[in-house]
Amino acid sequence: MLRIATRLRLSASTAVFVSHLALFGLLQEHHLDALVISFAVNLVVVYVSAPYFTAWLFTKDVERIRNFVEALKTGDLKVRLPVRSDPMIEDDINELNQLNQSLNWMARQIEIREQAVQTQLAEVGQREKELKDLVVRDPMTRLFNRQYFHDAVTHALYQLQRHKRPFAVALIDIDLFKAINDTHGHLAGDAVILDLAGLLGRHVRDEDVVARIGGEEFAILVANAETDTARSILARIRHAVENMEVGLDDGRILRITVSIGLATAQFDDRQTGDDLFHRADVALYHVKRNGRNGLMLWQNLSAST
Ligand code: GH3
Ligand code: MG
Ligand code: MG
Repeated sequence: MLRIATRLRLSASTAVFVSHLALFGLLQEHHLDALVISFAVNLVVVYVSAPYFTAWLFTKDVERIRNFVEALKTGDLKVRLPVRSDPMIEDDINELNQLNQSLNWMARQIEIREQAVQTQLAEVGQREKELKDLVVRDPMTRLFNRQYFHDAVTHALYQLQRHKRPFAVALIDIDLFKAINDTHGHLAGDAVILDLAGLLGRHVRDEDVVARIGGEEFAILVANAETDTARSILARIRHAVENMEVGLDDGRILRITVSIGLATAQFDDRQTGDDLFHRADVALYHVKRNGRNGLMLWQNLSAST
């Protein structure tokens, strides 16, 4: 910028000098005083105004750089300044060109680092999710574990007291599962557990919680459900299990049944989570003693005794 101002001064001074020389040729000595004064005034004007004129010339470029910096500040890392590829451009323009190139390079570096940070953040988020999953899920079936289920019941009890949202707890146990292991092997038993886990997951709603709470024992928290709704969901599940076919690698097909104990949480009953587990377990035990492959509601059981 300084260089262009100097060059402007030199060119303008030369122009003033040549024009006054021409005027001197025309007017001879008649107006020598006036010519000298005019020459001096013109020179002063040229020297003083050259930097302003130069700045004015670069106003657009400065404005562009200002907008570029503002865009970077607001997070637009894709912003770039125009760069001319013409190698013959004037020094000053070239200087500006180089400045623009450097600023573009800087923006690109920031963009690359930002992308690296975002990738690392995504990886950390993913790892955090995996770690959380390890804590709350059963590694074999990916269903929730006993601890998570317990916490979910505690939360549901709180919701019941606060918002009167009823819910139910169901305990599901595979019938005579030991015999499956003994007859078909442990791997066949594992296949049964996995298929049952998948079936349970497909038969509940998003707000429900399905957990594997023991080897061949599962639990479902039927959220926001009156007794009838909970019972019909579990009845459908029992029926679906009855019709489920577990295909083994060697072509054999296994069928299983389950026993289900159900206990609903009532608003006016001050039950704890342990109470609900115990009630569902009592109902489950009742089904086991009465031939298995059934569903029992604890409330019905206690009403009949
Ligand atoms: P019931 O109808 O009374 O429930 O009889 P059951 O045979 O299902 O009950 P029992 O408690 O006698 O047997 C459960 C069996 O489940 C015993 C155990 O070896 C098996 N088991 C537990 N976890 C797993 C597992 O992850 N994989 C396999 N294959 N078997 C398991
Ligand atoms: Mg069992
Ligand atoms: Mg069993």
